[in-house]
Amino acid sequence: MGNNEIKNPVETINAEDLEELEKKIYDLKNLIGLGISLSSNLEFESLVESVLYSCIGRMIIDKIAILLEPDIDSDNFVVHMSKGYDDENILKTLVINENSPIINYLKINTIPLEFDSLKEFPDLINDMEKMNILYPKLIVPMKSKNIFNGILVLGEKYNGEDYTVNEKEFMLDLGKFAAIAVENSRLYQMATMDRMTKLFIHHYFHERLTEEIRRANKDNTPISMIMLDIDHFKFFNDNYGHQQGDTVLKETAGIIKKLVRNMDIAARYGGEEFSIILPKTELEDAIHAANRIRKEIEHHEYPGQTDPLHITVSLGVAQYNVKIDKENKDFIERADRALYKAKMSGRNKVVAHKENLHTGE
Ligand code: GH3
Ligand code: MG
Ligand code: MG
Repeated sequence: MGNNEIKNPVETINAEDLEELEKKIYDLKNLIGLGISLSSNLEFESLVESVLYSCIGRMIIDKIAILLEPDIDSDNFVVHMSKGYDDENILKTLVINENSPIINYLKINTIPLEFDSLKEFPDLINDMEKMNILYPKLIVPMKSKNIFNGILVLGEKYNGEDYTVNEKEFMLDLGKFAAIAVENSRLYQMATMDRMTKLFIHHYFHERLTEEIRRANKDNTPISMIMLDIDHFKFFNDNYGHQQGDTVLKETAGIIKKLVRNMDIAARYGGEEFSIILPKTELEDAIHAANRIRKEIEHHEYPGQTDPLHITVSLGVAQYNVKIDKENKDFIERADRALYKAKMSGRNKVVAHKENLHTGE
């Protein structure tokens, strides 16, 4: 072998290739960081947002949308979040069925798709027309192995240039990480969330209560709890049927979720009983929150066979007190006792433990 002819490969590399290699290393480093940060984020909305910002940061674009299926029972992809569009409401009209041609096409293709290159496929025209409201340039599947759970739609780059091969490869990998992270977050949601009401389950409520009490003690902040139980729900079920009862449970949960703050933790405590942890909240404010919920439910029109139906709820409120609440159950019991008082004093009421005030009658 003519050893003399073998050169050090690094020496033979030209400046252009080197620049290319450096870009790839930069991208790979970025991707590793991204993979770690995405896979350690189980909180769904913030995860989705960081996927979008990761794309914006790397691609220098101002328009991006992510299409996801709203929940496991859904057959459609819809715009879950977007950045850079003037009218986000219009985007809500975009619905792409999971069996539509564009989805099948994305499933079998292994590269991100240039939107303009799809024009030659007549099957896709319908879906493409729908997607036009997103000003799409690049369509990236979120898929990994047998997961396909979303689509990233990227708008034009700031400089108006085409996406490079490297950028497309980067986006494909990002799409993989996003798919896995979204899948994990969904699995976590399923394990912590009640399927019917989409509120947290009992077990999760207890875990979070322990965590929140620890935090409140450490930071010396107040924490309150609301226990809520539907009035005469057995009677409602007997009269209107179990299915109608289920609708009431779902809509009531929706009202609770709508009225509490993001930081509050609303759970389905039992069959028709709900519990809410309110961090950083004094008793008085928790009573106000409870009354808002009570009134909203009292006035809500639940769907009936002919006329709308009404229900009421009773609520017990307590503020955590480190001196008397030795365990979680002591705190819960005090909220429960207040709820019991609300029931005994006529229902459709908020009662707070401690002073046992009747409020909001
Ligand atoms: P009170 O005002 O004292 O709370 O009376 P109530 O009838 O609501 O109380 P009770 O605890 O005796 O009954 C609760 C009822 O809630 C019994 C059950 O039929 C109903 N329930 C519990 N879970 C579900 C559910 O998942 N779906 C439906 N439709 N009903 C449920
Ligand atoms: Mg009840
Ligand atoms: Mg009950």
